[in-house]
Amino acid sequence: MGEKARRRRPGPLAGLLVAVVVAAGCMGGGRDQGEPEQPRPRQSGQPASPGADSTRADGTTSVAEFKQDFSDAVGIAERYWTDRFRDSGKRFQPIRRVVPYTRSGEVSCGGEGLPRNNAVYCSAGDFIAYDVNWSVGAFRQVGDAFLFYLLGHEYAHGVQVRLGIRYNFTIQQELQADCMAGAYIGDNVRSGTLTLAEGDLDEFREGLLAVGDDPDQPWFAEGSHGTAEQRTDSFFRGYENSLDACGLG
Ligand SMILES: [Zn+2]
Repeated sequence: MGEKARRRRPGPLAGLLVAVVVAAGCMGGGRDQGEPEQPRPRQSGQPASPGADSTRADGTTSVAEFKQDFSDAVGIAERYWTDRFRDSGKRFQPIRRVVPYTRSGEVSCGGEGLPRNNAVYCSAGDFIAYDVNWSVGAFRQVGDAFLFYLLGHEYAHGVQVRLGIRYNFTIQQELQADCMAGAYIGDNVRSGTLTLAEGDLDEFREGLLAVGDDPDQPWFAEGSHGTAEQRTDSFFRGYENSLDACGLG
């Protein structure tokens, strides 16, 4: 499979952009509502991006290319989770839809319109939705491997719902999703489905450092995702040790 997680050089803003993406973008597992989990900084952020051979040196990337790479990441996630479920004698129902949108309110989750500059898993409709312009912006600026993390994280929320996992605190749900995203990427690298370019691991690290909660945020607060260190630990635990590390039971 030609999907390679390749790398575009993240600019100085890369981390910031990624931070906005996940903070604003993630709905949290099992949640039915459409509101973002955290108040978000103004900067319009953007998620990362998968690679494509046609990427130009200046990092410019077309919307079509982005959509293709995003759907590659989705396809890999579907195969990955289908196999994992089969391993434990279960049948996996892929997340129903992945919906790109461009306007605020164009897509609703649980009766609430999704804002722009967002990427979410909506459990009410069992779909992942993302603001495509916002995402493409990130695709251009943030290293592309990180897109797999983002998709992996949102996809993991759908898997949590399927497994009936619902923690009392957002942070537990989020850190587990980070671990599952790490396992999804790590296992696919080990199987040769994904190839990481040099620097991709650093890109994950940089991105995860940037998406950590503000140190002043109480861990039990609604919307807490975990500190940078916690998120990095969770992701790499999954990346290195696969799903055994993620406490899926
Ligand atoms: Zn999340």
